[in-house]
Amino acid sequence: MIDTAQLEKNLELLEGRIARACARAGRPEHDVQLIAVSKLHPPELLRRAYDCGIRHFGENYAQELRDKQAALADLPGIRWHAIGPVQTKNAKYLAKAAHVFHALEKLEVAEELSKRRTGEPLDCFIEVNVAKEASKAGIDHGEVAAFVEKVRALPHLRVTGLMTMPPLTGNPEESRLPFRALHALARRLELPQLSMGSTHDFEVAIEEGATLVRVGTALFGERPAH
Ligand SMILES: *Cc1c(COP(=O)(O)O)cnc(C)c1O
Repeated sequence: MIDTAQLEKNLELLEGRIARACARAGRPEHDVQLIAVSKLHPPELLRRAYDCGIRHFGENYAQELRDKQAALADLPGIRWHAIGPVQTKNAKYLAKAAHVFHALEKLEVAEELSKRRTGEPLDCFIEVNVAKEASKAGIDHGEVAAFVEKVRALPHLRVTGLMTMPPLTGNPEESRLPFRALHALARRLELPQLSMGSTHDFEVAIEEGATLVRVGTALFGERPAH
């Protein structure tokens, strides 16, 4: 686990890169929200990040998110982003603990989340498979509009945007066209938010319109094994 000095340094470097990407794109910095992807890291590291000013945390696994939320319940103002797909049987944990869900792709999960949610509606991003990979998560481009309509009919969810995760190729430029396609689709559907970009391609994502970037490794270093 990295120490506070290293974390502060990583955060400063990351914020600088985000600011420069915003400047290149002619966008104000406050357009882009950094989500610190903390999956598999211990709660003590999240506490350190909180002390550095981070409030938005991204977690992939429903039970892990639930446990960390409980462990850090004494810290006011945290926003929990569930960024990985969830099985229907585990949706209840997200309904209770998450503020935002980035990986909605199944109607059954949407229905379960809506059924279990109390209080504020859960903000949801529809995960889109823009690169059309058979193995990857997300809904096909052409099916997103119909899916959004169905989710909009559910009372305790709010569709706020689209999300995608292009294949990791080692070359961030290869994410540009998928990001651009996601932006065009969001515009067509009048969805204001775009969750796209991780450590290897967040700068390209910002240039292509990301409003939330999900960055783990550049901030916290390598993750412990699952
Ligand atoms: C793990 C993960 C990230 C962060 O990846 P890094 O390469 O560590 O920045 C972003 N988005 C999703 C959906 C993830 O699962």
